[in-house]
Order: sequence, then C-alpha cells, then structure tokens
Amino acid sequence: MDIIDAYRSAGIRPEVYEYAKRAEQTLKDRFDLIDRIAECNQLKVVNAMRKNRVSYDCLNGTSGYGYGDVGRDTLEKVYADVFCGEDALVRPQITCGTHAIALALFSNLRPGDTFVSAAGKPYDTLDDVIGIRPCRGSLAEYGVKYRQADLKADGSFDFEAIRNAIDENTRLVEIQRSKGYATRKTFSVDEIGEAVRFIKSIKPDALVFVDNCYGEFVEDKEPLLAGADFMAGSLIKNPGGGLAPIGGYIVGKKECIENAANRLTSPGLGKEVGASLNAMRDFYQGFFLAPTVTAAAEKGAILAARIFEGLGYECIPSSDEIRHDIIQAVKLRTPKALCAFCEGIQAASPVDSYVKPEPWDMPGYSDKVIMAAGTFVSGASIELSADGPLRDPYAVYFQGGLTYPHAKMGILMALEYLIRAGEIILK
Ligand SMILES: *Cc1c(COP(=O)(O)O)cnc(C)c1O
Repeated sequence: MDIIDAYRSAGIRPEVYEYAKRAEQTLKDRFDLIDRIAECNQLKVVNAMRKNRVSYDCLNGTSGYGYGDVGRDTLEKVYADVFCGEDALVRPQITCGTHAIALALFSNLRPGDTFVSAAGKPYDTLDDVIGIRPCRGSLAEYGVKYRQADLKADGSFDFEAIRNAIDENTRLVEIQRSKGYATRKTFSVDEIGEAVRFIKSIKPDALVFVDNCYGEFVEDKEPLLAGADFMAGSLIKNPGGGLAPIGGYIVGKKECIENAANRLTSPGLGKEVGASLNAMRDFYQGFFLAPTVTAAAEKGAILAARIFEGLGYECIPSSDEIRHDIIQAVKLRTPKALCAFCEGIQAASPVDSYVKPEPWDMPGYSDKVIMAAGTFVSGASIELSADGPLRDPYAVYFQGGLTYPHAKMGILMALEYLIRAGEIILK
C-alpha cells in the first residue's frame, strides 16, 4: 500500500501529507542530533544494567513487606548510575510526579527552614504542597517558609533576585527544569549548572533540588552532573518509557535519598521495605526504551512546530530552537482551533479514538480546559496527548508519542481537523 493511501484511509488528505513531508525534509539535521543523543543515552542505560548485573530474577516482583527485593534494589542502582547520583528511590508507591517532588521536599526540609524557588512560581500542583494556596498538610503548616525568585522577562534566571531570596535559614533551593504549563523557556542542564554554582557560592550548605519532570534523556546529561544535589520525576513521563503503569523516582546524594526513604516508608525502615509487586518488568523495560521514546516525542514536537509555524502560528519553542524537554506549545488563537486540534489528536489515538474531547471545568483551574489523551496508561503524558486552557492565546500544549510515526500521525490528524473546521486553508 502506498503511504499516501495509508494516510488517506486514516482520513488524512494527501495535501496534508505532502505539506508535512516538505516540513519534515527540512528537519533532517535536527533529527540526526536527537538520534545521536538517544544513542548515547541508550548505551548509558544498557551499560548501567550490565554493570549492576540485572538478571531475569530482577523482573519478578515481591509482595508483603518486600524485604530483600533484588529487582527493586538493583533498579535503584541502575537509576543512580544513569543519572549520576549516589543513590536512588524508584518506587511504585510514589504515585506521581507531584508526590515525588513533595516527598523530596518534605523529607529534606525541617521546621524553621526556608525553601526557595529559583525559577519563579513552581508547577501548579506545588501550590498546595508549599502552601502558596492554604492546604492541609502543606509545608507552610509545618513551619517551612517559602520565598521565590522570579525569572527575568526573557525567561532566564535573575541572579540578583536569587541572591535576595536566599537567607540564613535557606535549606533547600528548587529549580524546575521544564516550563510545565508556563510559556517560559525550559532550562538546559548547562544553565541549571550555572544557577547551582551561583546558589552554592552564596550558601554552600543549601541543597539544590531539581524538578526534572519531562527533562529526562532530552540531553546526554542530567542536572546532577551539573552539581544539583538531588532531583525527582514521574515514571509516567520520560523515564517510564511508556510502559511503567505508575511510579516516581528521586535520585541524588545518599543523605537526601535516605531522608526521602524514611519519609516514604518509616524512619528505621527506609529503603528496606516496599514490595515492588508486578511493576518491575515494566520499570526495567520502560527505562530501557526511554531514550528512544523520548527522542520520538521530541521529533514529534519539532515537526509540529515546523508545520504550525509555516502556517503562521507562534510556537514555543520555535522549530529551530534547541529544546530541553518534550512539550510543544502552539498558540492557536481561537477556541474553535484549540478544540479542533485536540479532536484530531484524540482521533489519532490507539485507545478511545472514537471519543470527542469537550472543554470542562477541571478542579484547580480557573478557565475551562480541553484535553485529548487516548493513552494505554491513564494520564501518561509521554504518550501522545494535547491539552490547553480555553483562554487567550488559546495555546495547545502538545506532547508525547511513543513512536515517531504515531506522533506524526497525530499532528497530521490535528491539521486535518483544523482544515475541516475551516480554521486553516492549505495553499
Ligand atoms: C508533570 C509535572 C509535574 C507533576 O507531575 P504529576 O505526575 O502530574 O503529578 C511537576 N513538575 C513538572 C515540571 C511537570 O511537568
């Protein structure tokens, strides 16, 4: 079957395919660079698995207390090696990214400490964790003060503001690597390194923590190599490779991980308990696939940027910018265009493709939000998904794709739906 016929039978007209093909042809050098990074990271992961003698037994889980869980303990060594930390906590009992970050913060801060965010306001879900919005059990309730250094107008670190935010009680400084749902830039590992050095020059005993969500395997190095003390992320994003059904990780200094383990389980029990249940095969295999899955998602994001820029839409990051995460924002300018884009992504999904996404009042958001996600793992944003709040500039946040051909299919379907909605005319 001709490839054009394959797209046609998916409901995508030949003009859309041809338009995308021309955009794709301009991206060869960028894709080559991404493939080289994936190759490098693939070797790192396999080498860590070889070094730590991952065996077939590691893939079987345990139940009950989980004492002597060789699969869990070995996987944590693999994560520590790949991400250049002294130790790691990688658990199905860490329920999501927010939980991993909250665990890292609560376990390494004490009453009377000041917690500083060096990269402006942190990810939305941390408002409750920190107590920016009053919430039961927040850091604020435990007597941890919060200070924030906003970023400069161009999205870079404001070193003067960071200096002013740090006081003699500052115990921990957070840097969020990815933009999350803001329209700022995502930081590179080198930029994070520069901020870490600055923070340490002001307060050498402050711990620097990185929210690494969405950043894993986008570069050939991770923030710990740039001097951060510890970092955390979600296994239903990049490092789970699309296979992990749940989970989070924290990697870094031994003492930071011990604090986290004692809080996740109990003082005295620490890392020794926590049955891995049936998660291990997916955790290992997902981590093995993560470098190429992340690369596929990244290529999809760049293709989307190149196509929609060509059609006159502002894209963040732009298609020729070096990128440091897998999220692509496209300002679609009208509610109709935002909805059509999301309908296209949903229609291209392997699961729930027949469902039409509708804007809804999502708890915690002030505007209606529309979301498209037909994923194997519920809510997994490493899988092809798109969402956005219904407010000006009607930006869609597009991310994921377990394979490049599927990411491409989703983008082309989104374009097809925009044409059908009368929002775009291909010349
Ligand atoms: C996704 C994300 C989180 C939170 O992760 P959840 O798994 O949704 O709780 C935190 N920070 C950033 C930058 C993220 O992208």
